[in-house]
Amino acid sequence: MRLGRYTTGTESPWVGVELDVETVVEVGAAGDAAGVDLPGRTVDLLATWEWRRKVDLAVEHALATGEGLHDGGLLRREAPIGSPEKVVCVGLNYRDHAEEGGNPIPETPVLFSKFPTTVAGPEDTLSWDPSFTEKVDYEAELVAVIGEEARRVAPEDALDHVAGYLVGNDVSARDLQHGDGQWVRGKSLDGFAPIGPTLVTADEVGDPHDLAIWADINGERLQESSTSNLIFGIDELVSFCSRAFTLKPGDLLFTGTPPGVGVYREPPVLLGDGDEVTIGIEGLGELTTECALE
Ligand code: ZN
Repeated sequence: MRLGRYTTGTESPWVGVELDVETVVEVGAAGDAAGVDLPGRTVDLLATWEWRRKVDLAVEHALATGEGLHDGGLLRREAPIGSPEKVVCVGLNYRDHAEEGGNPIPETPVLFSKFPTTVAGPEDTLSWDPSFTEKVDYEAELVAVIGEEARRVAPEDALDHVAGYLVGNDVSARDLQHGDGQWVRGKSLDGFAPIGPTLVTADEVGDPHDLAIWADINGERLQESSTSNLIFGIDELVSFCSRAFTLKPGDLLFTGTPPGVGVYREPPVLLGDGDEVTIGIEGLGELTTECALE
């Protein structure tokens, strides 16, 4: 199942199931028509008991009656998760990316975070003030979305707490990241976490540790790897995080980026006005973001 958030233009974004590019079922409206109570926010939906079965009923009803069915071509696509409680990130989680920055291979996961205000959708423009940062960089990342709450879970149980996956771009202001002594500002400028295009549920993804991942900047492929190169897998990461803090439904876990980021290239490739960044992951789709200076 592919979940997104959509709007026809004037109303607040709502959760939808994307059956194909042209067919989106508005979960709340279809649920109402089918007599199934389904919340309007993705984080609340993921926290709903047996939400998959209820959404299936709503979709079935929509297909039978037309209630809640939308033409996908007429919709604006928003971030699949609009307001996660937490955005947890993992640094240096691909061996060759650690090496390209001259960093040792970590022995335990290196965690940091982005504020929830970084989250942006597949149709949002990435913009920044060039007098504030001059070194904006892209990072292609597989993002795990937490389903069932996770507190002190063992690695062997951890994937039961992952609802699904999406494509993410851990946009980073390198001058702030490397100049501040820690990464809070460099990683958390508004809109610096584009995600999408849809949340693909875990059952449809198959093995999350065997997916091609890439980044194209203005059509040129600058990152190309596979999630099979992750140092710490999703199960280890969810377990590791959950021993320190509770992971809630809708929390995002950015799992790290492969080599090829702009700052370590010769010469460096930094994002500027009009640039187009496309991050793709096998089975999850592509997320294309336009850049514009404020
Ligand atoms: Zn990252």
